[in-house]
Amino acid sequence: MLASLLFLAPLALASPLYKRQSNTYPEPLQRGPPPRQPWIDTYNAAKAAGKIPSFAPARLNSDGVPFYSGGVATDDKGVCSWSQAHCFGDNDIYDAPDGMYAINFDDGPVPASIPLYNFLEKENQTGTHFLIGTNVVDYPDAFKKVLDIGGHVAVHTWSHPYMTTMDDMQVLGELGWTAQAIFDHSNGIVPAFWRPPYGDADARVRAIAEEVFGLKLVGWNRDSNDWCLNDNPGSACAAYGLSGASDLEAELRGWQTGAKSPGCIGLEHETGSLIVNAFISTYPGIKQHGWDARCVPDLFNLDWYQNGKNNDGPFDTSFVIGSGPDSNSTSSASSATSSASSSASTASVSSSGSARASSSATVSSAGVAVPSKDAQASTDKDSGASALSRSSLAGSVAVVGLVAVAALA
Ligand SMILES: [Zn+2]
Repeated sequence: MLASLLFLAPLALASPLYKRQSNTYPEPLQRGPPPRQPWIDTYNAAKAAGKIPSFAPARLNSDGVPFYSGGVATDDKGVCSWSQAHCFGDNDIYDAPDGMYAINFDDGPVPASIPLYNFLEKENQTGTHFLIGTNVVDYPDAFKKVLDIGGHVAVHTWSHPYMTTMDDMQVLGELGWTAQAIFDHSNGIVPAFWRPPYGDADARVRAIAEEVFGLKLVGWNRDSNDWCLNDNPGSACAAYGLSGASDLEAELRGWQTGAKSPGCIGLEHETGSLIVNAFISTYPGIKQHGWDARCVPDLFNLDWYQNGKNNDGPFDTSFVIGSGPDSNSTSSASSATSSASSSASTASVSSSGSARASSSATVSSAGVAVPSKDAQASTDKDSGASALSRSSLAGSVAVVGLVAVAALA
């Protein structure tokens, strides 16, 4: 037994497909985790080339909504904030083509995702899954499952923050570590799409996602508010018109019978049985009403990943996470100055330490603070963080340690 393990270990390490770029992940749901140096190098090159705008991060007001101080314009003449002005970036995806219906879910992979994955497999239905990096590391079996059923995977950040409140280094860490976790736990997938939690993005965040990680932003044009029922069974979701599963199913059926121009990209989550069952029970209506249902990239005939057309691979593993959208080598950005990165890095550490909970306090801050903010915020918020936080945090520290050890073996 021991001999066979010793024999297998070098083989696993030798394969470039399974070569991990990192053996140590940030703490579960760590806000704005410090980025890896290669991502900083690419960021510095993009910054020096004028591709990343410079303005101060937003802050959350007492209602939990990001705001910018100093009279900054929030529309397309200013920071182009979706949260404040529903401003879209040039490359953002919000609408599906006419007659098309995106199958997509946020906040997985978690154990509650498995029945959804089994259903999609049975229906031979592709979907896009915007994944929490922490969950990819915590639930490697669920992540393997979503790939096995032919699911398209994309980035939904490491800790589910309001991304416009992160400084540049924190944005790098949130996106980079999620892409890294997907890369490490697959055969080397480099994601091509991301969805900001709560839809919260601005020109700075979009530019970092695009210029450093090659990630295209995907928003939505329908919002089920299913996260509320997932967190609060009973009458707490009346403000969203949801008193129970039947209301959620009615909402989803409304999408199906609604206008087909533009097509539908609806916000749904995969974090609990009630909301997963609502999707499953209403799914036949999508076909009955003549929609062409696909995962997000298939709506536009785009490749699923930056280094592969779909899950079949093989993936170009010379493509390094954070080397920019058009690069498949490691050296293009390495000559960039490091002065900006070192100062920004320091700021990121202090900012995350003061504004956000340390790892020991993350459970309460992520699990308690987020729902109350979301309840007061716009109905367009992607608010699955609360469900994810409570369901995934228990034991996650131990799992992270186990995954790291397993990868070395
Ligand atoms: Zn989410």
